[in-house]
Amino acid sequence: MNAKVWLVGAGPGDPELLTLKAVRALGEAQVVLIDDLVNPEVLVHCPQARVIEVGKRGGCRSTPQAFIHRLMLRYARQGKCVVRLKGGDPCIFGRGGEEAEWLAAHGVEVELVNGITAGLAGATRCGIPLTHRGVARGVTLVTAHTQDDSDPHWSALAQSGTTLVVYMGVTRLEQVRAGLLAGGLAPETPVAMIENASLPGQRDCRSTLATMHEDARAFALKSPAILVIGEVAGQAAALQALETVAIAG
Ligand code: SAH
Repeated sequence: MNAKVWLVGAGPGDPELLTLKAVRALGEAQVVLIDDLVNPEVLVHCPQARVIEVGKRGGCRSTPQAFIHRLMLRYARQGKCVVRLKGGDPCIFGRGGEEAEWLAAHGVEVELVNGITAGLAGATRCGIPLTHRGVARGVTLVTAHTQDDSDPHWSALAQSGTTLVVYMGVTRLEQVRAGLLAGGLAPETPVAMIENASLPGQRDCRSTLATMHEDARAFALKSPAILVIGEVAGQAAALQALETVAIAG
């Protein structure tokens, strides 16, 4: 039997945001390797499977990537149907590309299944349109935390004219803020910091580039959270205000 691994996105948390394809893969799985950002509620779709937790939360105890690779290979070579389940989308800051390349190099067939990435889900759940005619003509997904600790090209991002969605930014708020301000983004640019997007504990803190670090501290913002930086973050607040007026009226 051909060895095969499904690299599946579990979405941002809300189990209703799973794709039908993800549900089908889970239903066929014999082994599921699961990250700690995955909501365990999605496991109702694979009661038959052996579930192995291989969480890699930033800064915490984690399972070495090489060990995860070997586990996937071992089960695939036993002819088992293996699902590697990741939070959000497997290929957005999820090492899906690396894992797919490694598996392919070892003769394992790989099928990638999209998930809804946290940045898109978080914005939508807060009523923020990441692109909006006349306001934002694009969106850039960027991580604030790189393997070699280097900074993204903040000034290029500041000049991009797109909405910025920053992943893994909670511990680097000061660097994000300083980099974008130095790059010429206006201090009054709206910022939304969205924690636990799409989960029952979702919270969002609205701020501006100038005060985001202080507001996040007062709000006790915690990971996982994404930052949405750009005019649209204020646009949504305006929409919400209108709704409140309409309801009150
Ligand atoms: N592959 C994932 C991202 C993994 S990187 C995806 O596509 O969503 C981990 C980062 O994703 C976290 O530091 C945080 O910035 C973001 N994240 C993941 N789940 C989140 C959630 N439910 N709410 C807010 N941010 C989340």
